[in-house]
Amino acid sequence: LFARPWIFIRGVPAMKFLPPEGPPEIAFAGRSNVGKSSLINALIGQKGLARTSNTPGRTQELNYFVPDGFSGAKDDLPPLALVDMPGYGFAQAPKDLVDRWTKLVFDYLRGRVTLKRVYVLIDARHGIKKIDGEVLDLLDKAAVSYQIVLTKTDKIGEKAVPHLISDTLAKISKRPAAYPEVIATSSEKNRGLDELRQAIVTATAG
Ligand code: GDP
Repeated sequence: LFARPWIFIRGVPAMKFLPPEGPPEIAFAGRSNVGKSSLINALIGQKGLARTSNTPGRTQELNYFVPDGFSGAKDDLPPLALVDMPGYGFAQAPKDLVDRWTKLVFDYLRGRVTLKRVYVLIDARHGIKKIDGEVLDLLDKAAVSYQIVLTKTDKIGEKAVPHLISDTLAKISKRPAAYPEVIATSSEKNRGLDELRQAIVTATAG
C-alpha cells in the first residue's frame, strides 16, 4: 500500500467540501513545524506531496491523500485515505483563523464516522506542550482514538528516546482516547516509519 504512488485528491476548507464518507481515514495533527509534512512524505516515499508549511498557518485545510489507481466508485474505493490536518499553535495566527481551525477540526473529529485514528505529532525536543494538551483534550472529548508520534528523534540523543517514550506514555495514561503506545520517528533518518505504517494498517482494519 505504501509502496504505491499516492495522490492529493482534495483540500477541504469547510465541512461541506468533505468527500463522501468512503475509505477509512487516518488523520495527522501537530503544531506548526512539528515535521508533519516531512513525516507524511516519508511514509509514502514521495518528497513533494504534502506541502511543507514553512509559512506558518498556510495550509488551513484538511488535505486528503489516497493511493493512486482507484476510481473512487463505490466498488473501487482506495483502502485508506490519509488526512493532513492544519498545523496548530503558530504564534502569529489571527484569532479568526484559530477559531476557524478549531471549528473545522472539531466538526470533522466529531462528525466523521470513517475516521479511524488521529496521529498527534510531538516534537521529540519539546515533548507535550500546553497547546498539545488542549488538542488531546479535544480528542478525548470527541472520543476519537489517537496515538502519539514523536518526530525528529534524530535531534535528541539515542539514549534519550526510551526515556521520552516512557515519559510521554505516563503523561497520557489517564487519557481515555489515547492509544497506549508511542511511536518514535525521524523522517530524516527513516526511523520508526515501518512501525507507523504497521500501526496505521492495524488501526484501519480495526
Ligand atoms: P510541518 O510544518 O509540521 O509540516 O513541518 P515540516 O515537515 O515542514 O518540517 C519543519 C522543519 O523540520 C523543516 O525544516 C524540516 O526539514 C524539519 N524536519 C522535519 N522532520 C525532521 C526530522 O525527522 N529530523 C530533522 N532533523 N528535521 C526534521
